[in-house]
Amino acid sequence: MENSVQFSRNYSDLSTERGFQFEFFCDRCGNGFRTQFKSFGMSAITGAVDVANSLFGGILGRAADVTDRVSSASRERAHDQAFIEATTELRPQFMQCPRCSNWVCKQSCWNHKKGLCKECAPDLGVEMSAAQSSRSVEEVWAHAAMAEEDKKLATENWRETIRASCPQCNAPLATNAKFCPECGAKLKTSAHCTECGAKLEPGAKFCGECGTKTVQ
Ligand SMILES: [Zn+2]
Ligand SMILES: [Zn+2]
Ligand SMILES: [Zn+2]
Ligand SMILES: [Zn+2]
Repeated sequence: MENSVQFSRNYSDLSTERGFQFEFFCDRCGNGFRTQFKSFGMSAITGAVDVANSLFGGILGRAADVTDRVSSASRERAHDQAFIEATTELRPQFMQCPRCSNWVCKQSCWNHKKGLCKECAPDLGVEMSAAQSSRSVEEVWAHAAMAEEDKKLATENWRETIRASCPQCNAPLATNAKFCPECGAKLKTSAHCTECGAKLEPGAKFCGECGTKTVQ
């Protein structure tokens, strides 16, 4: 199997003799993502030889053996190729956390704002309501204190906090980088609304305060 592909090792091979299929799993929640089933034509050829062989009463026996060997070699190759295609197909659904290097699903285990997996950067809203619905008072307080800190970060200077990875290309970033060293994306913008003066989130199309369309 190809080792140069940089992707999760957490997968299962669902390939059958009729074709190839792979399923990759999120390291955090375990959700599986399957590739399209890709049928493999060689089995049809081998099948045809088998039919011919039985019709001619075994005269083609040797030919069938050879075909089997040839087809298993080319099947191997097609299988490797299908695996590479599978990784390219499913790679966009996953992110590798620069901190714990787990491959997690973008859908529910990736904290886009922090550029880390939710294991390393938990979703505080979710944590909060989980803590509130449980009966442990200490837990609620611990989480409330945490949320307070996070609020400060969020309102004042979350843009100044270190982004662990580029929002554009997801390359890992050094502390206080102003531009992504990989794609050159500008990392800190401090645009203000022309109407009400509120700070704008980078890339925002409308002001979050007054709804004015931003000029960028
Ligand atoms: Zn997940
Ligand atoms: Zn992580
Ligand atoms: Zn970048
Ligand atoms: Zn505004």
